Amino acid sequence: MSESLHIVCPHCDAVNRIPTARLGEGPLCGQCHRALFDGHPMELTAANFQKHISRGDIPVLVDFWAPWCGPCKMMAPQFAQAAGQLEPRVRVAKVNTEVEQGLGAQFGIRSIPTLALFKGGREVARQPGAMGAADIVRWVQGKI
Ligand SMILES: [Zn+2]
Repeated sequence: MSESLHIVCPHCDAVNRIPTARLGEGPLCGQCHRALFDGHPMELTAANFQKHISRGDIPVLVDFWAPWCGPCKMMAPQFAQAAGQLEPRVRVAKVNTEVEQGLGAQFGIRSIPTLALFKGGREVARQPGAMGAADIVRWVQGKI
């Protein structure tokens, strides 16, 4: 593992350089001074999606969901729980495909919820269907 990692702030989208050894010590963003990891999924939009996928050095797990989707709502607390376990090794994010229809189309999301894992700027794995927290964590750990 390299000595430092680029971490994109979930609040202001600034790119921070964090020593790898300090990743688990609650690092703060140098720009907005908020926590770079708060144990909650962040919201990705067309405006910040590409930056988080390509500029950060940690994998990004994305839940493509929509407010009208029952299984998505059922999975939300499970996904949030998984975020608490996967951070800070993985950035955990959500895309509301009802608002961000362009992103849903760009990635060919045909059913929701769909989980997609991005690494080094590209998608490396995808899993449609709702999952429990333990299964989400296990699935991600098997791919990174
Ligand atoms: Zn920030």
